[in-house]
Amino acid sequence: MSSLDIRNELCKYARKIVDHGLVVGPGGNISARLENSMFLSPSGFALEEIEPEQWIEVDIPSGEISDTKLRPSSEVLMHLYGYRQKPDMGAMIHTHPPYCIAFTLVEQNLPIMFPDQAALVGKTLYIPYLIPTTDLLANAVADKVTEASSILLGNHGLVTTGRNLREAFYRTQVVEESAKIYLSARAVGNPVVLTDQEFADIAALESEDYRIKLLQQMK
Ligand SMILES: [Zn+2]
Repeated sequence: MSSLDIRNELCKYARKIVDHGLVVGPGGNISARLENSMFLSPSGFALEEIEPEQWIEVDIPSGEISDTKLRPSSEVLMHLYGYRQKPDMGAMIHTHPPYCIAFTLVEQNLPIMFPDQAALVGKTLYIPYLIPTTDLLANAVADKVTEASSILLGNHGLVTTGRNLREAFYRTQVVEESAKIYLSARAVGNPVVLTDQEFADIAALESEDYRIKLLQQMK
């Protein structure tokens, strides 16, 4: 994998994120890691407008930003601290999915409700509202990245991580789908969710293992 591959991959997933309505306008920011560098979306662009050469390379150990006329996303610290905290993390996706945001207005703990959610995402953590772009938010997210691959940000959105962009993207989609399902069910009754044992059984299924392996492949 070269830096050009990573840049092209970022463009591909940036467009998918927009196509699936997971951000609107210039919202959200995404990054992927190659060795000691992360490549991050520039500030002020709608994700689908970013060209391969415009992703900003940031040295993870030093935080040094490569020479470019563009500024990195204002959430640069959230991504940087995340990679420092979790060395096996290959990508971070921060979006503003509408059902996730709606969910955080009324609830905090997203239950595990169906097999895909259990197998692909697992538990989702929650952080109360913090002012975006601050050290405070960056530290709060970095504190949790080793505990779960998805974190709801109260009144704000969602952060997912993965070994690569594909995994982080699928997690974003599944968490948004989960929030949508939960809110739809709650509108008409009391949702019945998976028990801890049912969740553990899914994790132990060999076919699910296989599916997770498939997801870890880049293409
Ligand atoms: Zn945001």
